[in-house]
Amino acid sequence: MLFVHGYCDHRDCFYCPLGENRKNVDQVFANERPVESDEDVLEAARKMDAMGSSITGGEPLESMERTTHYISLLKDEFGADHHIHLYTGITGDREIMRDLAEAGLDEIRFHPPVALWGNIHGTFWEEILYIAREEGLTPAFEIPGIEAETEFLEFIEEGAVDFVNVNEFEMSQGNYRRMHEQGYDRRTDHMSAVEGASEDDMAELVSHPKVYFCTSTFKDAAQHRNRLRRTAPNVSRPFEEITDDGTLVYGVTEAEPARLDELGVPDEYYEVVDGQVEIAWWLLEEMVEEGDIEGGTIIEQYPTWDEQVVEKTPL
Ligand code: SF4
Repeated sequence: MLFVHGYCDHRDCFYCPLGENRKNVDQVFANERPVESDEDVLEAARKMDAMGSSITGGEPLESMERTTHYISLLKDEFGADHHIHLYTGITGDREIMRDLAEAGLDEIRFHPPVALWGNIHGTFWEEILYIAREEGLTPAFEIPGIEAETEFLEFIEEGAVDFVNVNEFEMSQGNYRRMHEQGYDRRTDHMSAVEGASEDDMAELVSHPKVYFCTSTFKDAAQHRNRLRRTAPNVSRPFEEITDDGTLVYGVTEAEPARLDELGVPDEYYEVVDGQVEIAWWLLEEMVEEGDIEGGTIIEQYPTWDEQVVEKTPL
């Protein structure tokens, strides 16, 4: 996921999820990590073994030079099969659609203003769907599940869009206060989903086979897990175990490297990091059980750049 910048000057959605650290910032982020160079963007995609990328903001169409630069960069590096889609909250125009397609964008997902839902036909929002397709892009809608507006189904039936993604309506740190002011509340059984906006509440819209409802729990959990599972094989060291959840497991001990040499532990089974020995967890467990070394800890952590620890198990 490539966040090109945090500006979105033409829209002021009360539910905008952008938090303080994203709204109106000019920084680019790749998978939540600040980008300093093109190589950072490629590195983030490589680490995830990404088959595709998504471009988001803020409003990517307000920063076309940057947006097209990154689309071309990703296409040049990973080839035509690397699928790139982009989210936008404005229509753009034919020239913009052409520039995006020429840069290599595959798919564009439009998010029209809620005030227009039900009356999108006959506006430029309808026209741009056909223009985007003429210029070589796959048009789609991606909207928050605020209400089950069935006009979106008509666009599928008319062939104007290939699909509609409905994201479960969510409260975030960035929009919590504004959502409250509009009378929305959080579901009691969920951290962020909004009361009255579940898949059942959206049934009239999401029962169509080309409408995909993405629950916040599923989105959070599944996207996070997929990201970890793709990243882990690319960053793991030979002695680390990759779990089904995509986390990495290894052991840490205060034992001296010389002691490991004495015990005949091959070099590829450990590494000295910041004065500590990091080692295959099963080997550490065996050595502690045998009384060969005094103790240690088994660490399970995310393979992401912040290396957040999930669990520590002392031996
Ligand atoms: S279009 Fe998207 S980024 Fe812009 S204000 Fe609305 S939700 Fe926020």
